[in-house]
Amino acid sequence: MQRILNFINGEYVEPISRNYLDGYNPAIGEVYSEVPDSDERDVEMAVNAAKEAFPAWSKRTQEQRSDILILIAKGIEARMEDFVAAETNDQGKPLWLSRVMDIPRAVSNLKFYATTAMNVNGEFHKTDENTFNYTLRTPIGVVGCISPWNLPLYLFTWKIAPALAMGNCVVAKPSEITPMTAFMLGQICKEAGLPVGVLNIIHGLGPKVGSAITANPEIKAISFTGGTKTGAEISRVAAPMFKKMSLELGGKNPNIIFDDCSFEKTVKTSVAAAFTNQGEICLCGSRIFIQDTIYNKFKTAFLLEVQKRTVGDPLEESSKLGAIVSKPHFDKILSYIQLAKDEGGKILLGGHAVNLEGRCKNGWFIAPTVIEGLPFDCRVNQEEIFGPVVTLVSFSSEEEAIFMANSTPFGLAATVFTDNVSKAHRVAAKIESGIVWINCWLERDLRTPFGGVKQSGVGREGGFEALKFFTEEKNVCLKF
Ligand code: NDP
Repeated sequence: MQRILNFINGEYVEPISRNYLDGYNPAIGEVYSEVPDSDERDVEMAVNAAKEAFPAWSKRTQEQRSDILILIAKGIEARMEDFVAAETNDQGKPLWLSRVMDIPRAVSNLKFYATTAMNVNGEFHKTDENTFNYTLRTPIGVVGCISPWNLPLYLFTWKIAPALAMGNCVVAKPSEITPMTAFMLGQICKEAGLPVGVLNIIHGLGPKVGSAITANPEIKAISFTGGTKTGAEISRVAAPMFKKMSLELGGKNPNIIFDDCSFEKTVKTSVAAAFTNQGEICLCGSRIFIQDTIYNKFKTAFLLEVQKRTVGDPLEESSKLGAIVSKPHFDKILSYIQLAKDEGGKILLGGHAVNLEGRCKNGWFIAPTVIEGLPFDCRVNQEEIFGPVVTLVSFSSEEEAIFMANSTPFGLAATVFTDNVSKAHRVAAKIESGIVWINCWLERDLRTPFGGVKQSGVGREGGFEALKFFTEEKNVCLKF
Protein backbone atom coordinates (compact mmCIF):
# COMPACT_ATOMS: atom_id res chain seq x y z
CA MET A 1 0.00 0.00 0.00
CA GLN A 2 1.53 3.29 -1.05
CA ARG A 3 0.70 6.33 1.08
CA ILE A 4 0.34 9.62 -0.78
CA LEU A 5 0.99 12.84 1.14
CA ASN A 6 0.24 16.49 0.60
CA PHE A 7 3.11 18.72 -0.51
CA ILE A 8 3.02 21.96 1.48
CA ASN A 9 5.79 24.49 2.00
CA GLY A 10 8.30 22.19 0.35
CA GLU A 11 7.56 19.20 2.62
CA TYR A 12 5.47 16.08 2.34
CA VAL A 13 2.89 16.20 5.12
CA GLU A 14 -0.10 14.19 6.28
CA PRO A 15 -3.57 15.69 5.98
CA ILE A 16 -4.63 17.39 9.21
CA SER A 17 -7.58 15.01 9.53
CA ARG A 18 -5.19 12.01 9.30
CA ASN A 19 -7.90 10.42 7.12
CA TYR A 20 -7.16 8.71 3.82
CA LEU A 21 -9.24 7.71 0.82
CA ASP A 22 -8.82 4.51 -1.18
CA GLY A 23 -6.76 4.85 -4.36
CA TYR A 24 -7.51 2.16 -6.95
CA ASN A 25 -5.59 0.56 -9.75
CA PRO A 26 -8.50 0.31 -12.22
CA ALA A 27 -6.91 -2.48 -14.24
CA ILE A 28 -6.99 -4.84 -11.28
CA GLY A 29 -9.94 -3.26 -9.47
CA GLU A 30 -8.05 -3.14 -6.17
CA VAL A 31 -7.00 -0.51 -3.68
CA TYR A 32 -3.26 0.09 -3.90
CA SER A 33 -2.78 3.55 -2.39
CA GLU A 34 -3.97 5.84 0.38
CA VAL A 35 -4.93 9.31 -0.73
CA PRO A 36 -5.13 12.21 1.77
CA ASP A 37 -8.72 13.13 2.57
CA SER A 38 -7.73 16.77 3.02
CA ASP A 39 -10.04 19.65 3.88
CA GLU A 40 -10.10 23.43 4.15
CA ARG A 41 -7.50 23.38 6.96
CA ASP A 42 -4.90 21.85 4.64
CA VAL A 43 -5.83 24.36 1.95
CA GLU A 44 -5.41 27.16 4.49
CA MET A 45 -1.90 25.91 5.34
CA ALA A 46 -1.02 25.76 1.66
CA VAL A 47 -2.34 29.26 1.04
CA ASN A 48 -0.29 30.63 3.92
CA ALA A 49 2.85 28.96 2.57
CA ALA A 50 2.13 30.30 -0.90
CA LYS A 51 1.54 33.83 0.40
CA GLU A 52 4.83 33.78 2.23
CA ALA A 53 6.71 32.52 -0.80
CA PHE A 54 5.16 34.99 -3.23
CA PRO A 55 7.23 38.15 -2.67
CA ALA A 56 10.57 36.43 -3.28
CA TRP A 57 9.34 34.22 -6.16
CA SER A 58 7.68 37.08 -8.00
CA LYS A 59 10.84 39.19 -7.70
CA ARG A 60 13.07 36.58 -9.30
CA THR A 61 14.03 37.32 -12.86
CA GLN A 62 12.15 35.56 -15.62
CA GLU A 63 15.29 33.64 -16.49
CA GLN A 64 15.73 32.38 -12.92
CA ARG A 65 12.15 31.08 -12.79
CA SER A 66 12.39 29.54 -16.24
CA ASP A 67 15.63 27.78 -15.31
CA ILE A 68 13.89 26.03 -12.42
CA LEU A 69 10.97 24.92 -14.60
CA ILE A 70 13.46 23.44 -17.08
CA LEU A 71 15.12 21.56 -14.21
CA ILE A 72 11.72 20.18 -13.15
CA ALA A 73 11.12 19.04 -16.75
CA LYS A 74 14.53 17.34 -16.79
CA GLY A 75 13.79 15.74 -13.42
CA ILE A 76 10.67 14.09 -14.85
CA GLU A 77 12.61 13.02 -17.94
CA ALA A 78 15.25 11.40 -15.77
CA ARG A 79 12.57 9.32 -14.06
CA MET A 80 10.47 8.81 -17.19
CA GLU A 81 9.74 5.11 -16.69
CA ASP A 82 8.68 5.61 -13.04
CA PHE A 83 6.23 8.30 -14.08
CA VAL A 84 4.98 6.22 -17.02
CA ALA A 85 4.27 3.23 -14.78
CA ALA A 86 2.66 5.37 -12.09
CA GLU A 87 0.31 7.06 -14.56
CA THR A 88 -0.80 3.76 -16.01
CA ASN A 89 -1.34 2.09 -12.64
CA ASP A 90 -3.39 5.03 -11.42
CA GLN A 91 -5.40 5.82 -14.55
CA GLY A 92 -5.74 2.52 -16.41
CA LYS A 93 -4.42 3.75 -19.77
CA PRO A 94 -2.02 1.55 -21.77
CA LEU A 95 1.60 1.83 -20.64
CA TRP A 96 2.74 2.65 -24.19
CA LEU A 97 0.30 5.59 -24.23
CA SER A 98 1.66 7.03 -20.99
CA ARG A 99 5.11 6.65 -22.57
CA VAL A 100 4.36 8.31 -25.90
CA MET A 101 1.76 10.85 -24.82
CA ASP A 102 1.14 11.70 -21.17
CA ILE A 103 4.55 12.01 -19.58
CA PRO A 104 6.43 13.44 -22.59
CA ARG A 105 3.68 16.02 -22.89
CA ALA A 106 4.05 16.95 -19.19
CA VAL A 107 7.76 17.53 -19.88
CA SER A 108 6.91 19.61 -22.97
CA ASN A 109 4.42 21.73 -21.01
CA LEU A 110 7.12 22.73 -18.53
CA LYS A 111 9.74 23.39 -21.21
CA PHE A 112 7.27 25.26 -23.39
CA TYR A 113 6.11 27.66 -20.70
CA ALA A 114 9.62 28.13 -19.32
CA THR A 115 10.79 29.32 -22.74
CA THR A 116 7.64 31.10 -23.93
CA ALA A 117 7.48 33.16 -20.73
CA MET A 118 10.86 34.63 -21.70
CA ASN A 119 9.11 36.29 -24.65
CA VAL A 120 6.14 37.90 -22.94
CA ASN A 121 6.15 41.61 -23.71
CA GLY A 122 4.31 44.59 -22.34
CA GLU A 123 2.61 46.95 -24.79
CA PHE A 124 3.62 50.46 -25.78
CA HIS A 125 1.34 53.09 -27.35
CA LYS A 126 2.41 56.58 -28.34
CA THR A 127 -0.66 58.84 -28.17
CA ASP A 128 0.99 62.08 -29.35
CA GLU A 129 4.37 63.83 -29.21
CA ASN A 130 4.17 64.29 -25.45
CA THR A 131 2.14 61.31 -24.32
CA PHE A 132 2.83 57.66 -24.22
CA ASN A 133 1.44 54.54 -22.54
CA TYR A 134 3.16 51.40 -21.46
CA THR A 135 1.61 48.27 -19.99
CA LEU A 136 3.03 46.47 -17.00
CA ARG A 137 2.28 42.79 -16.60
CA THR A 138 2.53 41.52 -13.03
CA PRO A 139 1.85 38.15 -11.37
CA ILE A 140 -1.51 37.80 -9.65
CA GLY A 141 -0.34 36.32 -6.34
CA VAL A 142 -1.67 33.00 -5.07
CA VAL A 143 -3.64 31.07 -7.70
CA GLY A 144 -5.58 27.79 -7.67
CA CYS A 145 -5.21 25.01 -10.25
CA ILE A 146 -7.72 22.12 -10.29
CA SER A 147 -7.28 19.27 -12.77
CA PRO A 148 -9.14 16.07 -13.79
CA TRP A 149 -8.32 12.36 -13.94
CA ASN A 150 -8.15 11.62 -17.65
CA LEU A 151 -4.70 13.05 -18.46
CA PRO A 152 -3.39 13.50 -14.92
CA LEU A 153 0.16 14.89 -15.08
CA TYR A 154 -0.36 16.25 -18.61
CA LEU A 155 -3.19 18.57 -17.52
CA PHE A 156 -1.73 19.30 -14.08
CA THR A 157 1.50 20.65 -15.60
CA TRP A 158 -0.46 22.46 -18.35
CA LYS A 159 -1.82 24.68 -15.56
CA ILE A 160 0.94 24.99 -13.01
CA ALA A 161 3.71 25.68 -15.56
CA PRO A 162 2.34 29.00 -16.90
CA ALA A 163 1.25 30.04 -13.38
CA LEU A 164 4.72 29.47 -11.93
CA ALA A 165 6.56 30.85 -14.96
CA MET A 166 4.78 34.20 -14.56
CA GLY A 167 5.75 34.48 -10.90
CA ASN A 168 2.63 33.25 -9.12
CA CYS A 169 2.53 30.81 -6.22
CA VAL A 170 0.18 27.88 -6.64
CA VAL A 171 -2.21 25.79 -4.57
CA ALA A 172 -3.05 22.85 -6.81
CA LYS A 173 -5.42 19.92 -6.58
CA PRO A 174 -5.12 16.92 -8.88
CA SER A 175 -8.10 14.58 -9.13
CA GLU A 176 -8.24 12.35 -6.08
CA ILE A 177 -8.88 9.46 -8.49
CA THR A 178 -5.42 9.85 -10.10
CA PRO A 179 -3.11 11.65 -7.67
CA MET A 180 0.09 9.57 -7.96
CA THR A 181 2.15 11.47 -10.54
CA ALA A 182 1.32 14.86 -8.98
CA PHE A 183 2.48 13.38 -5.67
CA MET A 184 5.77 12.31 -7.27
CA LEU A 185 6.22 15.77 -8.76
CA GLY A 186 6.77 17.27 -5.29
CA GLN A 187 10.07 15.43 -4.93
CA ILE A 188 11.18 16.56 -8.39
CA CYS A 189 10.39 20.17 -7.48
CA LYS A 190 12.48 19.88 -4.33
CA GLU A 191 15.43 18.47 -6.27
CA ALA A 192 15.09 21.20 -8.90
CA GLY A 193 15.41 23.88 -6.22
CA LEU A 194 11.90 25.27 -6.41
CA PRO A 195 11.68 27.50 -3.33
CA VAL A 196 9.42 26.22 -0.57
CA GLY A 197 5.78 27.30 -0.72
CA VAL A 198 5.86 28.20 -4.41
CA LEU A 199 3.95 25.06 -5.40
CA ASN A 200 1.65 23.31 -2.92
CA ILE A 201 -0.23 20.15 -3.87
CA ILE A 202 -3.29 19.16 -1.85
CA HIS A 203 -5.04 15.85 -2.41
CA GLY A 204 -8.64 15.08 -1.63
CA LEU A 205 -12.22 15.32 -2.73
CA GLY A 206 -13.52 18.03 -5.05
CA PRO A 207 -16.38 19.15 -2.82
CA LYS A 208 -13.92 19.49 0.12
CA VAL A 209 -10.51 20.53 -1.25
CA GLY A 210 -11.61 21.89 -4.63
CA SER A 211 -14.36 23.98 -3.14
CA ALA A 212 -12.04 25.24 -0.35
CA ILE A 213 -9.58 26.42 -3.03
CA THR A 214 -12.39 28.07 -4.98
CA ALA A 215 -13.81 29.84 -1.91
CA ASN A 216 -10.52 30.96 -0.33
CA PRO A 217 -10.40 34.78 -0.58
CA GLU A 218 -6.57 34.78 -0.80
CA ILE A 219 -6.68 32.78 -4.04
CA LYS A 220 -7.15 35.35 -6.76
CA ALA A 221 -7.53 33.18 -9.86
CA ILE A 222 -8.80 29.68 -10.60
CA SER A 223 -7.70 27.58 -13.54
CA PHE A 224 -9.99 24.56 -13.78
CA THR A 225 -10.30 21.63 -16.16
CA GLY A 226 -13.12 19.16 -15.60
CA GLY A 227 -16.81 18.58 -16.08
CA THR A 228 -19.30 21.30 -17.05
CA LYS A 229 -21.36 20.82 -13.87
CA THR A 230 -18.29 21.31 -11.66
CA GLY A 231 -17.30 24.35 -13.73
CA ALA A 232 -20.74 25.87 -13.07
CA GLU A 233 -20.36 25.24 -9.33
CA ILE A 234 -16.91 26.89 -9.33
CA SER A 235 -18.30 29.91 -11.19
CA ARG A 236 -21.18 30.20 -8.72
CA VAL A 237 -18.70 30.60 -5.87
CA ALA A 238 -15.81 32.43 -7.57
CA ALA A 239 -17.67 34.93 -9.79
CA PRO A 240 -19.19 36.99 -6.93
CA MET A 241 -15.66 37.16 -5.47
CA PHE A 242 -14.47 38.62 -8.82
CA LYS A 243 -11.79 35.97 -9.24
CA LYS A 244 -10.22 35.47 -12.62
CA MET A 245 -11.37 32.14 -14.05
CA SER A 246 -10.24 29.86 -16.84
CA LEU A 247 -12.67 26.96 -17.29
CA GLU A 248 -11.93 24.06 -19.65
CA LEU A 249 -15.03 21.88 -19.56
CA GLY A 250 -16.74 18.96 -21.25
CA GLY A 251 -17.27 18.19 -24.91
CA LYS A 252 -19.43 16.15 -27.30
CA ASN A 253 -17.32 16.54 -30.35
CA PRO A 254 -18.57 16.02 -33.91
CA ASN A 255 -16.49 14.25 -36.53
CA ILE A 256 -17.85 15.17 -39.98
CA ILE A 257 -16.91 12.92 -42.87
CA PHE A 258 -17.61 14.04 -46.44
CA ASP A 259 -17.64 11.63 -49.38
CA ASP A 260 -14.65 13.39 -50.97
CA CYS A 261 -12.31 12.61 -48.07
CA SER A 262 -9.10 10.55 -48.30
CA PHE A 263 -10.88 7.41 -47.24
CA GLU A 264 -8.26 5.18 -45.62
CA LYS A 265 -6.70 7.99 -43.62
CA THR A 266 -10.13 9.20 -42.51
CA VAL A 267 -11.11 5.78 -41.20
CA LYS A 268 -7.88 5.34 -39.24
CA THR A 269 -7.96 8.87 -37.79
CA SER A 270 -11.64 8.55 -36.85
CA VAL A 271 -10.92 5.34 -34.93
CA ALA A 272 -8.09 7.03 -33.05
CA ALA A 273 -10.29 10.07 -32.34
CA ALA A 274 -12.99 7.80 -30.98
CA PHE A 275 -11.06 5.37 -28.79
CA THR A 276 -7.67 6.77 -27.75
CA ASN A 277 -7.35 6.68 -23.94
CA GLN A 278 -10.60 4.59 -23.84
CA GLY A 279 -12.45 7.63 -25.21
CA GLU A 280 -11.55 9.50 -22.03
CA ILE A 281 -10.17 12.62 -23.71
CA CYS A 282 -12.26 15.78 -23.80
CA LEU A 283 -11.31 16.09 -27.49
CA CYS A 284 -12.48 12.62 -28.61
CA GLY A 285 -14.83 12.62 -31.60
CA SER A 286 -17.82 10.70 -30.27
CA ARG A 287 -20.49 11.73 -32.79
CA ILE A 288 -19.49 10.59 -36.26
CA PHE A 289 -21.50 12.21 -39.05
CA ILE A 290 -21.03 10.46 -42.41
CA GLN A 291 -22.26 11.62 -45.80
CA ASP A 292 -25.00 9.21 -46.90
CA THR A 293 -23.25 8.42 -50.22
CA ILE A 294 -20.42 6.63 -48.34
CA TYR A 295 -22.24 5.67 -45.13
CA ASN A 296 -22.19 1.90 -45.66
CA LYS A 297 -18.66 1.83 -47.05
CA PHE A 298 -17.38 3.89 -44.11
CA LYS A 299 -19.31 1.84 -41.56
CA THR A 300 -17.81 -1.43 -42.83
CA ALA A 301 -14.24 -0.09 -42.89
CA PHE A 302 -14.63 1.64 -39.52
CA LEU A 303 -15.93 -1.52 -37.81
CA LEU A 304 -13.07 -3.56 -39.27
CA GLU A 305 -10.53 -1.09 -37.94
CA VAL A 306 -12.17 -0.90 -34.50
CA GLN A 307 -12.02 -4.69 -34.22
CA LYS A 308 -8.22 -4.41 -34.34
CA ARG A 309 -8.28 -2.34 -31.14
CA THR A 310 -7.70 -4.96 -28.48
CA VAL A 311 -8.89 -4.28 -24.94
CA GLY A 312 -6.40 -5.69 -22.47
CA ASP A 313 -4.00 -5.41 -19.58
CA PRO A 314 -2.55 -1.88 -19.81
CA LEU A 315 0.91 -3.32 -19.24
CA GLU A 316 0.73 -5.37 -22.48
CA GLU A 317 2.14 -3.67 -25.56
CA SER A 318 -0.72 -5.16 -27.64
CA SER A 319 -3.49 -3.49 -25.61
CA LYS A 320 -4.92 -0.57 -27.53
CA LEU A 321 -7.54 0.21 -24.88
CA GLY A 322 -6.85 -0.16 -21.17
CA ALA A 323 -9.12 0.06 -18.14
CA ILE A 324 -11.86 2.60 -17.40
CA VAL A 325 -10.62 4.92 -14.67
CA SER A 326 -13.04 4.01 -11.86
CA LYS A 327 -15.99 1.79 -11.00
CA PRO A 328 -18.47 4.72 -10.89
CA HIS A 329 -17.29 5.87 -14.33
CA PHE A 330 -17.46 2.28 -15.65
CA ASP A 331 -21.08 2.06 -14.41
CA LYS A 332 -21.89 5.45 -15.94
CA ILE A 333 -20.62 4.38 -19.39
CA LEU A 334 -22.56 1.10 -19.26
CA SER A 335 -25.71 3.01 -18.25
CA TYR A 336 -25.32 5.15 -21.40
CA ILE A 337 -25.00 2.01 -23.53
CA GLN A 338 -28.27 0.79 -21.99
CA LEU A 339 -29.80 4.22 -22.67
CA ALA A 340 -28.72 3.95 -26.32
CA LYS A 341 -30.64 0.65 -26.57
CA ASP A 342 -33.66 2.22 -24.84
CA GLU A 343 -33.54 5.10 -27.30
CA GLY A 344 -33.69 2.66 -30.21
CA GLY A 345 -30.00 2.48 -31.12
CA LYS A 346 -28.48 -0.59 -32.76
CA ILE A 347 -25.21 -1.79 -31.22
CA LEU A 348 -22.94 -2.63 -34.15
CA LEU A 349 -19.91 -3.54 -32.03
CA GLY A 350 -19.09 -3.87 -28.33
CA GLY A 351 -21.79 -2.65 -25.99
CA HIS A 352 -20.56 -4.64 -23.01
CA ALA A 353 -17.94 -4.96 -20.29
CA VAL A 354 -14.86 -7.07 -21.05
CA ASN A 355 -13.82 -9.72 -18.52
CA LEU A 356 -10.11 -10.41 -18.70
CA GLU A 357 -8.23 -13.33 -17.21
CA GLY A 358 -5.39 -13.30 -14.71
CA ARG A 359 -4.23 -10.17 -12.92
CA CYS A 360 -6.95 -8.02 -14.56
CA LYS A 361 -9.88 -10.32 -13.79
CA ASN A 362 -11.49 -7.74 -11.47
CA GLY A 363 -10.56 -4.68 -13.55
CA TRP A 364 -13.01 -2.32 -15.24
CA PHE A 365 -12.87 -2.77 -19.00
CA ILE A 366 -15.39 -1.89 -21.71
CA ALA A 367 -15.32 -2.99 -25.34
CA PRO A 368 -15.10 -0.22 -27.95
CA THR A 369 -18.74 0.39 -28.78
CA VAL A 370 -20.24 1.60 -32.05
CA ILE A 371 -23.93 2.48 -32.26
CA GLU A 372 -26.14 3.51 -35.19
CA GLY A 373 -29.78 4.40 -35.71
CA LEU A 374 -30.05 7.12 -33.08
CA PRO A 375 -31.47 10.56 -33.84
CA PHE A 376 -28.97 13.41 -33.54
CA ASP A 377 -30.95 15.02 -30.72
CA CYS A 378 -31.43 12.04 -28.39
CA ARG A 379 -29.70 12.04 -24.98
CA VAL A 380 -26.90 9.70 -26.08
CA ASN A 381 -26.06 12.14 -28.89
CA GLN A 382 -26.33 15.22 -26.69
CA GLU A 383 -24.71 14.30 -23.37
CA GLU A 384 -21.03 13.65 -22.70
CA ILE A 385 -20.31 9.95 -22.07
CA PHE A 386 -16.51 10.23 -21.89
CA GLY A 387 -15.85 6.58 -22.68
CA PRO A 388 -15.28 4.20 -25.61
CA VAL A 389 -18.72 4.79 -27.14
CA VAL A 390 -19.43 6.44 -30.49
CA THR A 391 -22.50 6.87 -32.68
CA LEU A 392 -22.74 6.86 -36.47
CA VAL A 393 -25.24 9.27 -38.03
CA SER A 394 -25.71 9.91 -41.75
CA PHE A 395 -26.25 13.29 -43.42
CA SER A 396 -27.07 14.35 -46.95
CA SER A 397 -25.94 17.98 -47.18
CA GLU A 398 -23.27 20.24 -45.76
CA GLU A 399 -25.97 22.36 -44.06
CA GLU A 400 -27.47 19.32 -42.36
CA ALA A 401 -24.06 18.18 -41.07
CA ILE A 402 -23.33 21.61 -39.62
CA PHE A 403 -26.79 21.85 -38.06
CA MET A 404 -26.45 18.49 -36.30
CA ALA A 405 -22.84 19.17 -35.28
CA ASN A 406 -23.93 22.42 -33.61
CA SER A 407 -26.97 20.94 -31.90
CA THR A 408 -25.41 20.17 -28.49
CA PRO A 409 -24.79 22.59 -25.62
CA PHE A 410 -21.05 21.87 -25.99
CA GLY A 411 -18.48 23.42 -28.32
CA LEU A 412 -14.98 22.17 -27.59
CA ALA A 413 -13.53 20.51 -30.69
CA ALA A 414 -14.60 19.22 -34.10
CA THR A 415 -13.02 17.25 -36.93
CA VAL A 416 -13.78 17.64 -40.64
CA PHE A 417 -12.65 15.24 -43.33
CA THR A 418 -12.73 16.41 -46.97
CA ASP A 419 -10.20 16.97 -49.72
CA ASN A 420 -12.16 19.99 -50.95
CA VAL A 421 -10.23 22.94 -49.48
CA SER A 422 -13.05 25.48 -49.90
CA LYS A 423 -15.56 23.21 -48.23
CA ALA A 424 -13.14 22.47 -45.37
CA HIS A 425 -12.69 26.16 -44.56
CA ARG A 426 -16.40 26.94 -45.03
CA VAL A 427 -17.45 24.21 -42.61
CA ALA A 428 -14.70 25.02 -40.11
CA ALA A 429 -15.90 28.62 -39.97
CA LYS A 430 -19.50 27.59 -39.27
CA ILE A 431 -18.88 25.01 -36.57
CA GLU A 432 -19.46 26.27 -33.05
CA SER A 433 -16.31 25.11 -31.28
CA GLY A 434 -12.99 26.42 -30.02
CA ILE A 435 -10.92 23.97 -32.06
CA VAL A 436 -11.42 22.47 -35.54
CA TRP A 437 -9.12 19.87 -37.02
CA ILE A 438 -9.23 19.37 -40.79
CA ASN A 439 -8.10 15.92 -41.98
CA CYS A 440 -6.38 15.22 -38.66
CA TRP A 441 -7.06 14.88 -34.95
CA LEU A 442 -5.13 15.81 -31.81
CA GLU A 443 -2.40 17.60 -33.76
CA ARG A 444 -1.26 19.91 -31.00
CA ASP A 445 0.94 22.97 -31.27
CA LEU A 446 1.29 24.37 -27.76
CA ARG A 447 1.39 27.93 -29.12
CA THR A 448 -2.22 27.80 -30.31
CA PRO A 449 -5.23 28.95 -28.23
CA PHE A 450 -6.99 26.00 -26.60
CA GLY A 451 -10.51 26.00 -25.19
CA GLY A 452 -14.20 25.77 -25.88
CA VAL A 453 -17.33 27.81 -26.54
CA LYS A 454 -20.86 27.39 -25.14
CA GLN A 455 -20.83 24.98 -22.17
CA SER A 456 -17.33 23.74 -23.02
CA GLY A 457 -15.70 26.60 -21.20
CA VAL A 458 -14.61 30.14 -20.70
CA GLY A 459 -11.19 31.50 -21.64
CA ARG A 460 -8.29 29.94 -23.49
CA GLU A 461 -5.17 28.07 -22.48
CA GLY A 462 -2.07 27.51 -24.57
CA GLY A 463 0.53 29.91 -25.97
CA PHE A 464 0.52 33.43 -24.58
CA GLU A 465 -3.12 33.06 -23.52
CA ALA A 466 -2.33 31.09 -20.38
CA LEU A 467 0.66 33.30 -19.54
CA LYS A 468 -1.53 36.39 -19.81
CA PHE A 469 -4.26 34.75 -17.74
CA PHE A 470 -1.85 34.37 -14.86
CA THR A 471 -0.95 38.09 -14.83
CA GLU A 472 -2.63 41.42 -14.18
CA GLU A 473 -2.15 44.23 -16.68
CA LYS A 474 -1.63 47.82 -15.66
CA ASN A 475 -1.50 50.63 -18.19
CA VAL A 476 0.72 53.56 -17.24
CA CYS A 477 0.14 56.81 -19.13
CA LEU A 478 2.91 59.42 -19.04
CA LYS A 479 2.63 63.02 -20.24
CA PHE A 480 5.78 65.13 -20.32
P1 NDP B 1 -14.78 16.76 -12.48
O1 NDP B 1 -15.42 18.04 -12.87
O2 NDP B 1 -15.56 15.78 -11.73
O3 NDP B 1 -13.45 17.01 -11.63
C1 NDP B 1 -12.39 17.84 -12.05
C2 NDP B 1 -11.63 18.30 -10.83
O4 NDP B 1 -12.47 19.17 -10.06
C3 NDP B 1 -11.23 17.17 -9.89
O5 NDP B 1 -10.00 17.48 -9.30
C4 NDP B 1 -12.36 17.19 -8.90
O6 NDP B 1 -12.05 16.56 -7.70
C5 NDP B 1 -12.57 18.68 -8.73
N1 NDP B 1 -13.87 19.05 -8.17
C6 NDP B 1 -15.00 18.30 -8.06
N2 NDP B 1 -15.98 19.01 -7.45
C7 NDP B 1 -15.46 20.23 -7.18
C8 NDP B 1 -15.98 21.44 -6.56
N3 NDP B 1 -17.22 21.51 -6.10
N4 NDP B 1 -15.17 22.51 -6.48
C9 NDP B 1 -13.91 22.48 -6.96
N5 NDP B 1 -13.36 21.37 -7.52
C10 NDP B 1 -14.13 20.27 -7.65
O7 NDP B 1 -14.21 16.16 -13.84
P2 NDP B 1 -13.52 14.73 -14.02
O8 NDP B 1 -12.33 14.62 -13.13
O9 NDP B 1 -14.60 13.72 -13.94
O10 NDP B 1 -12.95 14.85 -15.50
C11 NDP B 1 -13.72 14.60 -16.61
C12 NDP B 1 -14.30 15.87 -17.20
O11 NDP B 1 -13.25 16.76 -17.51
C13 NDP B 1 -15.03 15.62 -18.48
O12 NDP B 1 -16.24 16.35 -18.50
C14 NDP B 1 -14.09 16.17 -19.54
O13 NDP B 1 -14.71 16.58 -20.71
C15 NDP B 1 -13.47 17.30 -18.81
N6 NDP B 1 -12.19 17.66 -19.44
C16 NDP B 1 -12.11 18.82 -20.15
C17 NDP B 1 -10.95 19.16 -20.81
C18 NDP B 1 -10.82 20.45 -21.54
O14 NDP B 1 -9.69 20.84 -21.83
N7 NDP B 1 -11.89 21.14 -21.89
C19 NDP B 1 -9.78 18.27 -20.78
C20 NDP B 1 -9.97 17.08 -20.00
C21 NDP B 1 -11.15 16.79 -19.35
P3 NDP B 1 -12.48 15.01 -7.50
O15 NDP B 1 -11.71 14.24 -8.48
O16 NDP B 1 -12.11 14.72 -6.12
O17 NDP B 1 -13.95 14.96 -7.73
